[in-house]
Amino acid sequence: MSRVVYFDYLSSTPVDPRVAEAMSQCLTLEGTFGNPASRSHRYGWEAEMAVETARQQLASLINADLREVAWTSGATESDNLALKGVFAAAREAGNATPHIVTSAIEHKAILDSCRYLETQGAAVTYLHPSEDGLVQPEVVRDAIQGNTCLVSVMHANNEIGTINDIAEIAAICRSAGVPIHVDAAQTVGKIPLDVKALDIDLLSMSAHKFYGPKGIGAFYQRRSPKVAVNAQMHGGGHERGLRAGTLATHQIVGMGCAAAIAQESLSTEVQRLTALREALWSSLSDIEGLTMNGHLTQRLPGALNISVSDVEGEALLLSLPEFAISTGSACTSASLEPSYVLRALGLPDALAHSSLRVSLGRFSDENDVRLFSERLHEVVPRLRRSAA
Ligand SMILES: *Cc1c(COP(=O)(O)O)cnc(C)c1O
Repeated sequence: MSRVVYFDYLSSTPVDPRVAEAMSQCLTLEGTFGNPASRSHRYGWEAEMAVETARQQLASLINADLREVAWTSGATESDNLALKGVFAAAREAGNATPHIVTSAIEHKAILDSCRYLETQGAAVTYLHPSEDGLVQPEVVRDAIQGNTCLVSVMHANNEIGTINDIAEIAAICRSAGVPIHVDAAQTVGKIPLDVKALDIDLLSMSAHKFYGPKGIGAFYQRRSPKVAVNAQMHGGGHERGLRAGTLATHQIVGMGCAAAIAQESLSTEVQRLTALREALWSSLSDIEGLTMNGHLTQRLPGALNISVSDVEGEALLLSLPEFAISTGSACTSASLEPSYVLRALGLPDALAHSSLRVSLGRFSDENDVRLFSERLHEVVPRLRRSAA
């Protein structure tokens, strides 16, 4: 099989070889395989030390305190914990109809949790983004009510790559006295993120979006002021009672190692990928009927989402077999519904169907980008001629 260029870094990333090496040291008898909760022997102590080193690495990446980071199975679980945990605590505190403010273009982990909470008596406001895919801070302000228990807005969108102004949104929440949760699965490890500077209460993270393994994530809960979050997983009181379950040492070490690598390479990677994405976009500018979805510049360094007019989306994808790209989100492309994110931006169904999400990452280079541009220049006119 010839090589397929991987251009789907927003969907998942390959584990960095250094991360894989660190993880492999945590599995066998010779390695750090013990249960981090075993207090009576060195296998346990060593595993606990490895877990705490990783916690320090991740906390440092987002400028959090060690005690503010809990391990979960991924951003999906962290999102569930934030929404269901705050909702349950608000109920307990006497809020009969807890109100949640979120946006219509959140990840399904947020939207489906909100839908579920509506069946449990929550009221949810789904904010509409602007045409360029951003959640406007004023719109958040207007949506907050007396019974609002949480605002949940994503940092960067996983389909179009746009980055919300979280500092501004968090300031509005602060002055209204409402806690804010941020799904940062697409930004942690990719762009600078400082939970203190942004003034965030709760944050969701996922290792496999920044060259760590799948099945491990983290939940940041600010210590002071602290928002009450009821645990959703019980048994054993791990992670300060917030999330029970034996800690997956190898996964956690992998996430910590990925965080340390990200921290050290962040600023150069942001520059390199921004330049690469801008070069790609400008090389495509002479193709007629091509539009970028989402804000032109307020976006993740490696993320581009484009719509190509007058071609069939399916045909377009089939004509580019040498690239691993996606149309719409990976999570929704199993169905043939046009992407709900692109629809929320006001795109007609035809343009939403003929959209491509091209996402570059650590192992992408100029050659990959040049090849893609060449192929698109060939394919688009050919598809239009055959359709005419
Ligand atoms: C990938 C992603 C998730 C889900 O993370 P998992 O760790 O795969 O569960 C949630 N939110 C956003 C924005 C994502 O990109």
